[in-house]
Amino acid sequence: MREHFFQLVAMFLEGGLSGLTGFDSPARFRYIRYTMIGFFRMVFFAIAAYLIYKFVKFVLAPLAGSQTPPRAEGRSGVMVKDEVCKTYLPREDAIRETVGGVDQYFCSEACRAKYLAGRKSGSENAGRPAP
Ligand SMILES: [Zn+2]
Repeated sequence: MREHFFQLVAMFLEGGLSGLTGFDSPARFRYIRYTMIGFFRMVFFAIAAYLIYKFVKFVLAPLAGSQTPPRAEGRSGVMVKDEVCKTYLPREDAIRETVGGVDQYFCSEACRAKYLAGRKSGSENAGRPAP
């Protein structure tokens, strides 16, 4: 096995030299040698291509990762104010109530009820605004 390998290497080198110098050898052996050279060359390029592929992938991997950063789903980051207790809270967590065509946000059901009660009593004197 080992001797066979060295024989192949010798053939490879000899084939390369004869190719450069035009060293004369029987056409049949020359054909075999060139076939071997072609095979080795193919294997070499395959390995080289694989290594380049791995290298490029390794280099580009962090770039590709940064292009799609993890994002909190369904969170707009918009803060709304509860007009009853004057606190700010994320819009997704607030209770929304459309009052007279305007969206009002509340931290809890209690604040919403309080706001609507206050508005009802206030509107008795002021009259209803246009929706
Ligand atoms: Zn509140």
